[in-house]
Amino acid sequence: MGLPFRQAAKIGAYVVKKQLSGKKYPLVLMLEPLFRCNLACAGCGKIDYPDEILNQRMSVQACMDAIDECGAPAVSIAGGEPLLHRDLAQIVQGYLDRDKFVILCTNALLLAKKINQYTPHPNFTWSIHLDGDKAMHDKSVCQDGTYDRAIAAIKLAKSKGFRTQINCTLFDGTDGERTAKFFDEMMAMGVDGITVSPGYAYERAPDQEHFLNRERTKKMFRDILSRGRGGKDWKFTNSPLFMDFLAGNQTYECTPWSMPLLTVFGWQKPCYLLGEGYAKTFTELMEDTEWEKYGVGKYEKCANCMVHCGFEGTAAADSIKNPLKVLPILMHGVKTSGAMALDIDLSQQRPAEFSFSRHVEHKMSQIKAGNSNTTEIEAAE
Ligand code: SF4
Ligand code: SF4
Repeated sequence: MGLPFRQAAKIGAYVVKKQLSGKKYPLVLMLEPLFRCNLACAGCGKIDYPDEILNQRMSVQACMDAIDECGAPAVSIAGGEPLLHRDLAQIVQGYLDRDKFVILCTNALLLAKKINQYTPHPNFTWSIHLDGDKAMHDKSVCQDGTYDRAIAAIKLAKSKGFRTQINCTLFDGTDGERTAKFFDEMMAMGVDGITVSPGYAYERAPDQEHFLNRERTKKMFRDILSRGRGGKDWKFTNSPLFMDFLAGNQTYECTPWSMPLLTVFGWQKPCYLLGEGYAKTFTELMEDTEWEKYGVGKYEKCANCMVHCGFEGTAAADSIKNPLKVLPILMHGVKTSGAMALDIDLSQQRPAEFSFSRHVEHKMSQIKAGNSNTTEIEAAE
């Protein structure tokens, strides 16, 4: 397992307490304090906003208010490229001072320049974006040389005593053998964990062809995991039951509120992948979202989804309810052959609604009227 014991124990205790309360609860705050990036990956749905929106930044205070309101034990900071936010080190420190676990997801291009603004801490992890070996990653991010810079950044962060993991998005056409070899190399290099996710279809992503459907996702994960003793050879930060779900051995409904997303637009409804409205506060997100309208089998846009932001929370809750399900995975690895669990019926799902441009227009009018709750910078830092 790629999570340190203290982190797993603390989050486990939090999940038990919240499960007993019977209420919906957040596990990880997904924070995107800006959309601007210094790369232009084909699979990214964030970077084609107008400049006025790419120049918006969430303030340190807004980032602290978000965690104080939602109370999640962990924060994952992404973007855009978060290291472009000039107050990011202060935001990270604010969360650490609140005893939160902080995962800072970066493409690492600016890591060497900014690393001295950060101090190693048991609750702080660099999560370097790396979508496979040199050829796979450079193709995925559409820029040669990016893999080498990410590897140099991992080595630098490790040499300075930081906990350092990688986050790896796997798209359609991923070669199982190459990916397994890549995971072996990362382990040999000493990374502290690997977070995997199937490529997900952002509505705004320019490359819609290479996202996975559920059937292909499960086959791909079985293919990869079968080459590493059911995943036992690699330290995944994903929970064992989530990995089991990715390999088609669990039927789960999503719990999108478990990883709520806050961006410069506000709290995104209903989840990290779908922007069908925005709430001003976490309370409003929880109370006003029609959760029952979303999920696989309920809504066409959800049909292919197996991403961690929807299902990791479900897997974590299942681990608490059924701890005996976890044991065989820890002992023998994820099952990669035999019948898969029955998937959810899609025949009754409601058709997709296309609403994503409304929030862009709304934000643009707020910016023009001078009443946006985010700040605008003149140029990228
Ligand atoms: S590095 Fe991340 S935020 Fe930047 S373009 Fe690529 S996917 Fe988008
Ligand atoms: S299934 Fe739908 S609502 Fe659930 S996480 Fe995926 S996209 Fe979001």
